[in-house]
Parts: sequence; C-alpha cells; structure tokens
Amino acid sequence: MLSDMLDYIEHIRARPVWQPIPDATRQLFHAALPTAPRDLADVHASVMQDILPHVVGNTHPRFMGWVHGGGTPVGLLADMLAGGLNANVGGRDQMPLEVEAQVVRWMRELFAFPDTASGVFVTGTSMANYMGLLVALTHALGAGYRRTGLGEKGAALVAYCSAATHNSVARAMSMAGLGSNALRRIPVNAAQQMDARALQRQIHTDRAAGRRPFLVVGSAGTVDVGAVDPLPAIADIAAQESIWFHVDGAFAALGMLAPDIAPMLAGIERADSLAFDFHKWGQVQYDAGFLLVRDGAKHRAAFAASADYLQRDARGLAGGDTWPCDLGPDLSRSFRALKTWMTFTVLGTEHIGASISQCCRLARYLRDQVEASSMLELLAPVALNIVCFRFVCADADRINREIVADLHEAGIAVPSTTVIDGHLAIRAAIVNHRTTDADIDILVAAVADAGRAYCKEPHD
Ligand SMILES: *Cc1c(COP(=O)(O)O)cnc(C)c1O
Repeated sequence: MLSDMLDYIEHIRARPVWQPIPDATRQLFHAALPTAPRDLADVHASVMQDILPHVVGNTHPRFMGWVHGGGTPVGLLADMLAGGLNANVGGRDQMPLEVEAQVVRWMRELFAFPDTASGVFVTGTSMANYMGLLVALTHALGAGYRRTGLGEKGAALVAYCSAATHNSVARAMSMAGLGSNALRRIPVNAAQQMDARALQRQIHTDRAAGRRPFLVVGSAGTVDVGAVDPLPAIADIAAQESIWFHVDGAFAALGMLAPDIAPMLAGIERADSLAFDFHKWGQVQYDAGFLLVRDGAKHRAAFAASADYLQRDARGLAGGDTWPCDLGPDLSRSFRALKTWMTFTVLGTEHIGASISQCCRLARYLRDQVEASSMLELLAPVALNIVCFRFVCADADRINREIVADLHEAGIAVPSTTVIDGHLAIRAAIVNHRTTDADIDILVAAVADAGRAYCKEPHD
C-alpha cells in the first residue's frame, strides 16, 4: 500500500486530474453491513480500482480549482506514523502535545505574536474562523455569557467583513446564534479589498443606532481573487473602536514564508486572532487548519470547562496545564501536528516559501498569457496566485461554464468558476508546488480549444 501511494504521487502527472464516477462504481458502495470479514488484499485492490481514480485530484499539478494544497510524500509518511501511534491529542502529558506546542511557537515567531499567544490545530479555516469569532464574542460579552446565553447584549452585537470575505464567516455568525444579518459586508474597491473608510462609517452608523460593534474580520487572501485587505488600516480602526480584529488568512497567511509575498501581508501581526490552513500553501496533508490567538487567556476563556473526568494532576499521565480541549470544541483529536512538524522540518520553510513564490509567478505568467490572447479576457487583477478570466464570446457565462466542465470531464485541468462583477469567471488558483509553466500552457490551450469549439465567430 505504501509503495502504491508513493507511485501514485510520483506518477500523478500522467493521470487525468479527475474522472467522472461510473454509476456501477458508485453502486458498489451501496452494499449491506459487512458482517463477515474480507481479505485485506482484496479490499486494497478495491481502493486502487474503485476509489483512487475518482478522488478530487488536488495532488495533480493541473488541479487549480477552489484553493486546495497538493500534499507531499513526507505528509503521507507522517500520516502513516500518526496512524500507527493513534494518539488521542485532546490533552494529557504526551509528546504529541509538545510537537503541537512547537508548531505554536513557530507560528508565534512567523507572525510576530507574543509568547502569551495560544494556538491549536483544527480541521480547517472554516472551523478556525468560527472559533476566532467565539473568542471575540466571549471577550465582548464576558465569559458569563457561556452560562446565560447571548441575551439582550448579544442581540445588539454586530460584526464586519468585506463583501469578498469567505462565506465561513457568515456561517460562523449564524452558528454562534448571532445571525448572519448581524454581519455587515463592507464594500470593496476594484481590487476586491475592503474599503476601510466605509468600515469606519458603518461602525459609526451602527453605534448611533444602538448596536454594539464587536468584531472585524480582515482577509489576507480572499477566496475569489486572492486580495489582501488593508490590514494596517483595519487594525487601526479596530484598536480605536476597541473591537476584535480577526484575520482570515486561510491560504495566504503562510505567504509570510516567501520573502516577496510577506510585505503584502503587513498588518497581519496586529491581529487579535488569525485563522489559516497548513493544508493549502503549507502543502501539509488534509486536514490541518490552525487558529492563533494573541491573548491565550482570552482563548481559554471561550472554551475551557471543567469536568471531573478531565481533571489535571500534578503527576502521571493527567499532567499539564492547558490541554488542546481547553482551546476549542474538540475533545478527541488526531495528531495533526506531526505531519505539519515533519513537513516543515524535512522541507525547511525556505523551500515551502519558494513554492509559494513560484505559485504567484505562475499566476502572473497565466495572467500575461490571458492578456496576450485576443480570445481571453482577464476579469480581476492578480494579487497573488489566483487568476480569474474567461473566453470572450456571446453568451459568455454559459459557454465558460461549459468550458470548465469539459476540462474537468476530459481530465485535462481543473479550474473552478466564480462570479466577478456579475460575470462568470474561469478561476485558476495555483496552490500546488508541482505546477509548472507547461501546466499553465496546457490550461490556456485547452480553454482556447474548448472555447473555439463552442463559439463559431472567428478569432485571431
Ligand atoms: C479555504 C478558505 C477558507 C475555508 O478553509 P477550510 O480549510 O476549507 O475550512 C476560508 N477562507 C478562505 C479565504 C479560504 O480560501
């Protein structure tokens, strides 16, 4: 199995990025509960034959959909080790917690957070955004709200993000019981960055109406186009207004590892809390999200709860002070820190940073190709690693959607789609360290070929 997976990664380029699932294959997984045992080798064969060809394909260099990381063989091996150890990393006095604490220290260093900052691995940035919001909420209402509920004070709370913010923030508002209507979506400029003046005005309007602003979420890398909000200006406003400053840095926060990208993220070090993923630009295997909170005490205040069966002792396995279960909703947790620690240690952060720079260079290369082609049109400026463009023709929204689906089904490349200024865009997010110039060329040629087949008007 190990050699199958190493072969799979080594030869990924020769495979289709994605293949549609045949009905018969889907049907295989409608079987009854397996009461009798089945030979492991036989089950392994089924994985190779029925599952492997039909995964999402994000290890492939021409997977450019959404924002998915590519993983590495180091992460594969780390997952094997973690699976063997099968440590439950919710707490207790064990080295896996020291490994997690090491990563927390690294992240304090990388983002210039103080020694009192706390951090915790979670599934992904959706969860980390939700938890960051809960820490901000606890700070605003006082920990007593955890017993009394939101009450009248809670009903007056409002939060802010930009119109380009990931929908996990609106979902966090609804899951927290605040309601997504209490999230103000501040307009963005042409580069999709939050208009800080509009933020300031909206806060004043809300205060005048008796609302209680408590949180502003800045994006370091928006999901549609990779825009970085004016973080220093937002940090100033948050400080002035005494509201919590959370940053969604899902993929781009680790741009701090790339000397040419880090300056674009200035201001991130002023966040009260920062959510990001190691599984995107960090190239760590799924899942590996992370929440960093400037004031560890405030972080604990949002989640820590005592229970007789979770008491800490001065000696023995129940030792230790803060356990990860004090920093989030999970009790049982996998050893996510190991694959992150191993990936960073084996590759070194310079190498990871270089692959981040490379992704951004490839995005500029793609942008240049789009701009040079009379068939293609750029729909948004390229800030980092995301290029939104379309094939120019009549009925462009429908045709570009078809082009993307054709590329998926042919297994040539997997961009995704989004809507920019009302226009359907082909969106290529370059996140994979395996992607090269040749892959960009293949994408451009495939889009042009598919587009020409749909649009009869001559081009070029
Ligand atoms: C991917 C992403 C998220 C969600 O992160 P998950 O790890 O998928 O939960 C949130 N915000 C942005 C900007 C993202 O790119």
